[in-house]
Amino acid sequence: MSTRALFREDAYQTRCDATVRAIDEQGIHLDQNVFYPLGGGQAGDAGMLKLADGTCISIAHTRKAKFEGATSDDVVHVPAAGQDSLLQKLAVGDKVSAEIDWEQRYKRMRLHTASHLICAVLPYPVDGCSITTEYARLDLATVELIEREAVEAKLAELIGGSHAVRTEWITDDEMVACPELVRTMSVKPADGPRPRSAAAHQRRRSAAVRQHACTQYRRNRRAADCEAGEEKRTHAAAGAGDLA
Ligand SMILES: [Zn+2]
Repeated sequence: MSTRALFREDAYQTRCDATVRAIDEQGIHLDQNVFYPLGGGQAGDAGMLKLADGTCISIAHTRKAKFEGATSDDVVHVPAAGQDSLLQKLAVGDKVSAEIDWEQRYKRMRLHTASHLICAVLPYPVDGCSITTEYARLDLATVELIEREAVEAKLAELIGGSHAVRTEWITDDEMVACPELVRTMSVKPADGPRPRSAAAHQRRRSAAVRQHACTQYRRNRRAADCEAGEEKRTHAAAGAGDLA
């Protein structure tokens, strides 16, 4: 049974109640989750799990869980070091309150959306990316000269439009019909021979499409909630964007 990935349903959900499903060498697995896992160049969320007695386990990182049958919804919360005595108290079946470091996540969301704006301005395939709390980096596959001033002017125009941001999900069939929706080279539908595991490829592609076959940029219904200025202009969607 997969974890319920609440972060896909509402990028602005910062906490949830959950039940501990497993504790292993990877970390803590919950039945539902608001932490975005490392993926597509975007860092995994940090935060904390609050136990029933009020104590808190600090979560340093979140990544996709690895186990037989795991999906991209299955994530594992990696505790920060030095909490052994706290972790020993934690047991499968315990109820916890899971809360992300929202300040950190929101910065990444905004940079993620900003990277979509850059994709809208520069129509080149994306060969890699990194979205951190401090910056976003896109590797564009081109040998054409990029004029910084022209790019900045177009970006300013898009940003000035204060467009709403929302995420869109498409099916595999739709992606096959419109491969240009996926800008990342590594998740293009395979033209050549199928990979060794067709099923694995299909799963990977489906996950990539669900998360990232977004259009030129993500828009979110909370656009109107944002404050004026930068806040309003580059508000972003969730941990969105699994490029890998
Ligand atoms: Zn994205």
